[in-house]
Amino acid sequence: MQVPAPVEYHRASNVTDAVGLLDRLGDDARVIAGGHSLLPMMKLRLADLEHVIDINDLSDDLGHITFSENEVRIGAMVRHRELLESTELNRYFPIFGDAERVIADPVVRNRGTIGGSLCQADPSEDLTAVCTTLDASCLIRGQDGERLVTMTDFYRGPYETAVGQGEILTEIRIPIRPHGSSSYSKVERRAGDWAVASSGAAVWMSDGVIDDVRVGLAAVGPNTTGIPAIGEALQGAEPSEELYAQAGRIASENCDPSTDARGSADYKRHLVGELTRRSLRNSVERIRAQTWS
Ligand SMILES: Cc1cc2nc3c(=O)[nH]c(=O)nc-3n(C[C@H](O)[C@H](O)[C@H](O)COP(=O)(O)OP(=O)(O)OC[C@H]3O[C@@H](n4cnc5c(N)ncnc54)[C@H](O)[C@@H]3O)c2cc1C
Repeated sequence: MQVPAPVEYHRASNVTDAVGLLDRLGDDARVIAGGHSLLPMMKLRLADLEHVIDINDLSDDLGHITFSENEVRIGAMVRHRELLESTELNRYFPIFGDAERVIADPVVRNRGTIGGSLCQADPSEDLTAVCTTLDASCLIRGQDGERLVTMTDFYRGPYETAVGQGEILTEIRIPIRPHGSSSYSKVERRAGDWAVASSGAAVWMSDGVIDDVRVGLAAVGPNTTGIPAIGEALQGAEPSEELYAQAGRIASENCDPSTDARGSADYKRHLVGELTRRSLRNSVERIRAQTWS
């Protein structure tokens, strides 16, 4: 089916208005941001709604990328293109540029938002893996106020998040830690496609040894913990190819891919190992090339 069922359209003028509308209209209402996930679901009758609440006028409130000494705050309405083009964001977190270059195509990237991506919670969605890698937290607002949740608590499973009825995601917060860098590697069947498997890595180092490592995966089962076993195995060690291989093996063991049209579970597990090695190697090389951290 190519046309969504009729819905009543509402346009929120600010965050309070959006939350008020969601509260008043109840279960049959959903906010729409870029529309690149919600509209296809409405056309396929996978989302059966009576009301959509357009939050595109909230770009002034939710379109920011702001930096403080310890944290970057990204508004939920920041578009993929803006994440790709922000020089300052990519200076701290080059993983965003790596991931955004291979998310969909320019048409989708011009409209799709980080908030929509995280709230869609598609297990193959790349920004959830990026935010997991960077140990992000999500700010959720409802009628009763705001709450901040970790990515582990935010992502509840495929297409399910901690954002409840009557609430919206307003901001993503990422800690800035010194002497760190990050990278993202993805295999897709063709340009613009969803991942067969992806792996993001963030590494922090001092005096030539690894202080901490986090790894986030996409398309191979839910992983929102940053795989602590990798951090434990690599902490205090000097980076080497053997170490990257060890981390790759741990990542392969900590994913849960299924066999589908994109490949067999074994193939995806193999990819996770290889992509994790690559992302770790790139992150370490980026730290070594830094002159500012
Ligand atoms: C052809 C194509 C290829 C794609 N390829 C990739 C890819 O390779 N990798 C990838 O990661 N993604 C991919 N995507 C998805 C793309 O990134 C979407 O833009 C993204 O998933 C959803 O963002 P959106 O702003 O369009 O959300 P919408 O479609 O507007 O909303 C999605 C869901 O999130 C909810 N929502 C939106 N904003 C909020 C908010 N602030 N608070 C609470 N709920 C909210 C909506 O109610 C809806 O349920 C692709 C999409 C298309 C169409």
